[in-house]
Amino acid sequence: MKVPLPPAPGTSEHPCLALANSIVTLPGGHGIDELDSPENATAWLVAQELVPEGTGLLEYCQLKLTNVRGHLRQLLESHTLGVAPDPASLDAINGALTAVPSAALLSYHPGEGLARVSNHPVTQLVDHAMAAITEDAASLLTGPDAHRITQCASTPCDRFLLRTHLRRQWCSERCGARQRATRAYARKQDKTPAG
Ligand SMILES: [Zn+2]
Repeated sequence: MKVPLPPAPGTSEHPCLALANSIVTLPGGHGIDELDSPENATAWLVAQELVPEGTGLLEYCQLKLTNVRGHLRQLLESHTLGVAPDPASLDAINGALTAVPSAALLSYHPGEGLARVSNHPVTQLVDHAMAAITEDAASLLTGPDAHRITQCASTPCDRFLLRTHLRRQWCSERCGARQRATRAYARKQDKTPAG
């Protein structure tokens, strides 16, 4: 199921934010997970242009992807809070970063000679996609935009975004409007005399 919100700022440039935001908690408490089946996980990776059209993920690949997503969210959250990341999450991200060689392999076919090939079995395609996502995360978290990563302040939304200006704290207009309404309500409550 698709998240019924426009992509959070930074998501289209950063596959790591896109993966982190593929699961979201919506007002009313129910969550939406875009990777909740092998078919949906495949569609998501194809839409992100991380695997070629026609790829069919196995459940095993889907679970690998959602597992990395959990660790990625932990890493992003600890970064936005300014605390140390969970070592298990750091290990998992490093595992995905180094699981596959990024180079296209050399192959030989009689009559055709040597060629570079990048067509991998499905499991390797997913490993490559995860390597691309975690590479993006590693460079974003250590790059000049690292301080712009934030998590939507409009409870219960938990999407990550790249702040477009310093005061922006929410992922979408809808979340911004909800946060303003919550604040206005809180102010009204404060002014109401107790008793
Ligand atoms: Zn939000």
